[in-house]
Amino acid sequence: MSKNRRKIIAANWKMNLTIGQGKELVHNILKEKDLPCEVVFAPPFTHLSEIKKITSDRDKVFLAAQNCHHESSGAFTGEISTDMLKDMGVQMVIVGHSERRELFGDTGKWINQKIKACLKRNLQPIFCFGEKLEQREQNQHFETVGKQIKEGLSGLSEAQIQDVIFAYEPVWAIGTGHTATPGQAEEMHQFVREEISSTSSDQVARSVPILYGGSVKPANASELLSCPNIDGALVGGASLKANDFLSIVAAV
Ligand code: PEP
Repeated sequence: MSKNRRKIIAANWKMNLTIGQGKELVHNILKEKDLPCEVVFAPPFTHLSEIKKITSDRDKVFLAAQNCHHESSGAFTGEISTDMLKDMGVQMVIVGHSERRELFGDTGKWINQKIKACLKRNLQPIFCFGEKLEQREQNQHFETVGKQIKEGLSGLSEAQIQDVIFAYEPVWAIGTGHTATPGQAEEMHQFVREEISSTSSDQVARSVPILYGGSVKPANASELLSCPNIDGALVGGASLKANDFLSIVAAV
């Protein structure tokens, strides 16, 4: 598992695309032979093994799941464990996405348990956090994000924190077309590094990738990705079209 800070563009397909559509999308994206950064595909669980067949021989291309359960097995109907994901060749897992927090009740404690389960299986968690609109309007965005980070990293060693990929996703920017300005995003990413530093060390805080997510598209990608503390993007809607996704990758 790479421990270094590097550029990453991750595609979160959410609950979209058939397996056939997903394969076609990945084929079209991987026609680009010279990827300038790491590219991560997070398709639905049902697509993972088929997408793995296309991505496994490509350098810098990784497969992620969109969620996991923290137990390795047991009576948890409808859930998928990190052991099962590992068995399928998955390398990363999105944990704590705002849709999981909002719609499926994922709590800070669960997210922490999921992050620990991922790290135990050598899966890199893509740990998402971000404030809601009313929290930003009430100037509580730093406090909210600080709390989410502390909860997510609770009980992790410095070495473990170094294996986490962080993703700041302001909830008001997800799927809304309202992107954070580069200034707002950069300011929060700097704050996130300070929070990581206070939980571990300055060296760890400087060595982890922090992605931005929230309505990233070809038109705003370069500006966001040129900010010094933004190491990449977690992309929802624009990851479903090969040309849009490739333009974002090219913006790196
Ligand atoms: C996401 O769901 O992680 C996301 C960033 O979505 P979108 O790019 O559509 O805002």
